[in-house]
Amino acid sequence: MSEGRGLISLTADAVVIGAGIVGLAAAYYLARRGFSVVVLEKDYVGSGSSTRNAGRYRVHFGNRENTEFAIRAIKKLESLSGELGWNGVFERQGYLWLVRRKEVLENYERLNEELWKPLGVPVQILTVEELRDRFSYINTQNIVGAVYGPPRMGPSTTITWCWVITRGRSILALGFMSIPRLKTWV
Ligand SMILES: Cc1cc2nc3c(=O)[nH]c(=O)nc-3n(C[C@H](O)[C@H](O)[C@H](O)COP(=O)(O)OP(=O)(O)OC[C@H]3O[C@@H](n4cnc5c(N)ncnc54)[C@H](O)[C@@H]3O)c2cc1C
Repeated sequence: MSEGRGLISLTADAVVIGAGIVGLAAAYYLARRGFSVVVLEKDYVGSGSSTRNAGRYRVHFGNRENTEFAIRAIKKLESLSGELGWNGVFERQGYLWLVRRKEVLENYERLNEELWKPLGVPVQILTVEELRDRFSYINTQNIVGAVYGPPRMGPSTTITWCWVITRGRSILALGFMSIPRLKTWV
């Protein structure tokens, strides 16, 4: 591995390429299991999609696998600050889709009955009247209804989570190693 002018030699049980949210999470959980881990990042921590996204999460996905995965992911987010010993930003604002086509709304109604309700996901399908009552500032022209995921399915931000995972006291205690700006040839 090269770092500008010199060479450094490192050995580790696992080498993770890329310090985005996925690489950092993989590194963190490997380190927690007792493996030594090196994270190689070609730019800076969180320089990829993980700090450039919309920062939204939701539970109401169109299939069982993603829905169950998202339910578990939110439970994990809720406990992650405590686990890491640093605070992440975790706002709860709800998640609203405005729907323009009747057949799309009908599909959401079907998903709600067949998938979301049985899994305990509290999605509400709103008529235009309910939408106006609840969110009077929304322009409902050409809207046939809405799908509302209540605040416990609201947005978070992976920018903060990258930072928290990298800087968290727990991870340093576990010997996690991050090398920002190290060039690799992968
Ligand atoms: C515009 C946009 C909006 C999004 N909105 C949402 C949203 O609302 N909700 C949601 O859940 N998801 C959203 N996503 C998706 C989410 O951001 C990504 O799924 C997630 O950030 C991917 O994380 P990652 O760690 O895999 O990738 P990245 O964060 O991209 O990390 C990859 C890292 O690898 C590094 N790297 C690449 N090649 C090398 C190499 N050869 N050597 C060393 N390092 C390397 C990069 O520099 C980078 O830091 C959005 C994505 C985009 C682009």
